[in-house]
Amino acid sequence: MENLQMVDLIGQYKKIQEEIDTAVLDVIRSSQYINGPEVKQFQSELEQYLNVKHVIPCANGTDALQVAMMALNLEPGDEVITATFTYVATAEVIALLKLTPVLVDVDEDTFALDPEQVKAAITPKTKAIVPVHLFGQCANMDAIMDIASEHNLYVIEDTAQAIGADYTFKNGETHKAGTIGHIGTTSFFPSKNLGCYGDGGAIFTNDDDLAAQLRKVVNHGQSKRYYHDEVGVNSRLDSLQAAILRIKLPHLDTYNANRAKAAAHYTKAFKDHPKLKTPVIGNSRTHVFHQYTLQLIDVEREGLLEYLNGKGIPAMIYYPVALHMQEAYKDDRYGKGHFPVTERLVDSVFSLPMHSELDEEQLNYIISHVLEYLNHN
Ligand SMILES: *Cc1c(COP(=O)(O)O)cnc(C)c1O
Repeated sequence: MENLQMVDLIGQYKKIQEEIDTAVLDVIRSSQYINGPEVKQFQSELEQYLNVKHVIPCANGTDALQVAMMALNLEPGDEVITATFTYVATAEVIALLKLTPVLVDVDEDTFALDPEQVKAAITPKTKAIVPVHLFGQCANMDAIMDIASEHNLYVIEDTAQAIGADYTFKNGETHKAGTIGHIGTTSFFPSKNLGCYGDGGAIFTNDDDLAAQLRKVVNHGQSKRYYHDEVGVNSRLDSLQAAILRIKLPHLDTYNANRAKAAAHYTKAFKDHPKLKTPVIGNSRTHVFHQYTLQLIDVEREGLLEYLNGKGIPAMIYYPVALHMQEAYKDDRYGKGHFPVTERLVDSVFSLPMHSELDEEQLNYIISHVLEYLNHN
């Protein structure tokens, strides 16, 4: 089995190569590289896809989070609650803005913010909650939105790993991930479910005032050219990336369906294995499988990863170190042992290749080697 990858970007490109090449050349020949018509068109196509009033494109998913937080006019020392089991970007921007990240533990099934832990972490200084829809499914948004409205908090959904996922509320309404809270953010990093060929990101909101504020912040804090109302940033999506995203967006549901199909194939093979816990899809939501992440039960993880790598199968650990154990985010409020679920997860999770191009032969090859190792160790 040759050429197995965590993410097969070349295989995906080859299927849309002609369209992509033409679109890229068209942008180059148009010379409208910044804020050109492609960006506006992508913006409105994504608004339609997500059924959200405003999409504000920006330079990457980390900027999207930072701009979202800047638009809320929070004060230094205000507290923002987020998960300790996540990618660093979420906590990073909170700290950069001199806000206080308040880390909490996650749900052991969905790997997303545990609402009970969120409730327990609320203080008079709490201003916002950032649920991270980790690995491709939403956090428990019924509970998080209830907590937020009870305590008058903002909700910023980090949707970098879950674009296209659905969440159905108790009242029967279904919304796309990222359009539920006050603001949603995403990344178009190449390996994300909707990836461009460089850096890219976007911010979503249904609130007209917030949208105006977000547009101002991404554009140097200016409301009118050369009039700067406040300190902003420069964060733009390139026209080239927008042109590529316009071609890929109509395929997003197919890409996500292919990932879900590959995930179902893995789960069928692994679900009854005593040494594995397969991904759990939470109630009332769909999973777009940015990652296929298993938990190992009494298996030495390094040995398994080494064995798989030796067979040409990439397998990764997302994430090996919780944020509260990172040098940069250490805090007297929490040390080792404080977040038992996360601390178990960082030692037991591993992720198998997951992308839109996996075929059955590749999946069976991967599955047979995982089982082979587990049955002998
Ligand atoms: C990828 C990612 C980001 C950051 O996106 P970039 O475009 O790389 O800045 C933020 N949050 C999560 C959960 C991510 O997976």
